[in-house]
Amino acid sequence: MVEECVFCKIRKGEIPSTTLYKDDEFMIIKDINPQAKVHLIAIPTDHVPYIDMMTQEGTALLGKIMGKISHMQEELGITEGYRLLINQGENAGQTVNHLHIHILGGEKLKDF
Ligand code: 5GP
Ligand code: ZN
Repeated sequence: MVEECVFCKIRKGEIPSTTLYKDDEFMIIKDINPQAKVHLIAIPTDHVPYIDMMTQEGTALLGKIMGKISHMQEELGITEGYRLLINQGENAGQTVNHLHIHILGGEKLKDF
């Protein structure tokens, strides 16, 4: 099945994005509507809509992505601290149904 979601299109280069990192498994891009001074999104290549649909392999990849983020703080501009966030479903406000991790930082973030 050919996926037509916005993140799959970004992956294929059909929609432009500012890409900070890309390998076969995932990419990190700038969010188009930043909610903090630095607002990036890490997007696994495979189209899995929700975190509650993740396989064990997919979950392992999420851990790998988090490790990569922690090793890229300098390049990502988040050395003073950052917040990782995943929205699951409607109540959380998920708008793109292709699982992704928000990376927020670059300034003192508001408390929840
Ligand atoms: P969600 O609300 O699903 O957790 O997050 C989706 C995020 O994707 C939002 O923060 C939104 O600004 C971002 N987004 C939606 N469309 C695009 C796009 O075309 N390009 C980029 N770079 N970000 C997008
Ligand atoms: Zn997708």
